[in-house]
Amino acid sequence: MLPSVRLSRVYLIEGEGLTLVDSGLPWSGGGALAYIESIGRRARDLRTILVTHGHPDHTGAAGALSKATGAAIVAHRADTVATSDGRRALAYRGTLGMVRSPLPLRGPAVARRLVEDGDVLPIHGGIRAIHTPGHTPGSLCFLMEESGILFSGDTIFSDGERISRSVPFPGYSRASYVRSLKRLAEMEFEAVCGGHGEPLRSGGSGAVRNLLRTRPDPPTWGGFFRGLPRRLSRSRSRPLTGEYE
Ligand SMILES: [Zn+2]
Ligand SMILES: [Zn+2]
Repeated sequence: MLPSVRLSRVYLIEGEGLTLVDSGLPWSGGGALAYIESIGRRARDLRTILVTHGHPDHTGAAGALSKATGAAIVAHRADTVATSDGRRALAYRGTLGMVRSPLPLRGPAVARRLVEDGDVLPIHGGIRAIHTPGHTPGSLCFLMEESGILFSGDTIFSDGERISRSVPFPGYSRASYVRSLKRLAEMEFEAVCGGHGEPLRSGGSGAVRNLLRTRPDPPTWGGFFRGLPRRLSRSRSRPLTGEYE
């Protein structure tokens, strides 16, 4: 987990090549490159940037990092838009269908590979793309098949102990989200590395099944705000992006 990135979580997977899971806000790129150098690797070792979804707090630095290192951006088509030259650029289309990420001033972040549900990338022992629409239409989870680590973006969060779900944003589909969570609950994985909060190190899929059994309805903003004072008094370290019961 990159220590320099605030507000959202960016993960670096080390291997022969390096892989980032998400990229943080637009100004996070420099910190990511500095971290890569601090562990004795070079910028050009970064080969892949996996994008869990098109929200700017996850995609902001992807274009700049891809340009600086040559890394390929991997995303789902539904969180991209066509560029004028026929390529696909990362985008958040939840609000009026107009908000691009990164901001237009910084140029489009072109996705070099669009993945579909079930595609397995031949890196780090195999990383499987799981299409989990709901939070956004193109939300993806990435499962490291050998180690059972799930990078869950904003589809599920953890505070290090518990699992939680995201509240609705523009572009959110409740029906798709419920279906995606049920699919995840049928899979097997250990660690959950979410787009905010702290990683859950083990028991991930069991925790998802347990959450859906005990609290089948996804959270709402009303419930989120009602529970806020209690959550804040309980812990300052938990993210404000999901429900914790
Ligand atoms: Zn998001
Ligand atoms: Zn987020």
